[in-house]
Amino acid sequence: MLLEEIKKFLLEDSVNRFLKYVQVWTTSDEFSLSTPSTENQFELGKILAAELKELKLDNVIHDDYGYVYADLPASRGLENVKRIGLIAHIDTSPAVSGKDVKPVIHKNYGGETIRYASNKNITLTTEDSPILKEYIGLDIITSEGDTLLGADDKAGVAEIMTACAAWQKYSELKHGPITICFTPDEEVGKGTLNINKQRLPEFCYTMDGSEMGELEFECFDAWKASITFTGLSVHPGYAKNLLINATHIASRFLSEIPEQESPEHTEDREGFYYVPRLKGNVEEAETTITIRDYREDNNKKRMEFLRSLKDLYEIRYPGLKIDLQFEHQYSNMLRFIEKDKLVVDLAEKAIEMAGLEVIFHSIRGGTDGAKLSEMGIPTPNIFSGGSLFHSRKEHIPTLALQKASEVLLHLAKLWTSA
Ligand SMILES: [Zn+2]
Repeated sequence: MLLEEIKKFLLEDSVNRFLKYVQVWTTSDEFSLSTPSTENQFELGKILAAELKELKLDNVIHDDYGYVYADLPASRGLENVKRIGLIAHIDTSPAVSGKDVKPVIHKNYGGETIRYASNKNITLTTEDSPILKEYIGLDIITSEGDTLLGADDKAGVAEIMTACAAWQKYSELKHGPITICFTPDEEVGKGTLNINKQRLPEFCYTMDGSEMGELEFECFDAWKASITFTGLSVHPGYAKNLLINATHIASRFLSEIPEQESPEHTEDREGFYYVPRLKGNVEEAETTITIRDYREDNNKKRMEFLRSLKDLYEIRYPGLKIDLQFEHQYSNMLRFIEKDKLVVDLAEKAIEMAGLEVIFHSIRGGTDGAKLSEMGIPTPNIFSGGSLFHSRKEHIPTLALQKASEVLLHLAKLWTSA
């Protein structure tokens, strides 16, 4: 059990840090060719590096790629305990503006409709977010409705920073050596692109899940198919038996994909094909297909289906060329984490010790932890506490910030006797 004094410190410190971090603009950009994708991400990195130095962590580095690393020395006598890593991302989703975020605390939320000072067109209700019903009586943080809030993932950043502050302030909180890593560009799929693997320990955790109690160690196995159709342009008035209309054929090809296996028709453990893009003219058409499933064999079947469709269409339309390429994007991390469940078991225990019910959740997407797990560093994902990410209605109860920091304190303690 943690002392009430420490819990109070965790709440105050995490809320203060969170309110400060969300006001720093760190939107990433999926179309940028720079590293990190946006210059403004350096600003929060700079602040965090300075705060980590202030907290007397060792080897604080803010590198040219925008990553921040630091080492927390172990409590005396626990130097030989296994080192763990704590990771959160500093960027926010480009889906909604993250500039000039003005966080608002709704004290003692009573279940009422939340209205926004800077956007009269939207409201936040328990229908938008049923979990709000569980937050009655708590303090809820939202934006002013003109931007997202940025709890994804500045909540994770604040929780890790607060845990560091608590470890340094209260010597009774025992822990082994801990490495902190803050990453840029997670929201644009590049969070681990330039990560220094040598700088990370054998086991890590990302603090990037949503509601309180959540623990995730399964995600999709992810593939991308890129298809180019090459046809032949002929004057339409004289085209009989000659014209090969690439775009029209591509649209027929895509319509062969089973509609039931689309994102809008699937949930829970069902996989899908998703067509985010089709562009073209008579001579050439290009499309990409996102393929997702928890099971690799199901994805293999989907790829086999696309290959057979390609063969069929090349026979049906003599002269048509279809180029079909598959790219593996990330793996279901379960496969790597299952080998040694200790990393998950301790997180489960730590969540329970914080007085929360553990919610096991499979991610219908990926995380940086998936890439790290594949790189040989098992990295489950722990809740950071927010809801309705990537939206103007994003919100987080202040209690979640406290609870997630508590989980980290328990987790570090558990690793000292693992
Ligand atoms: Zn996130």
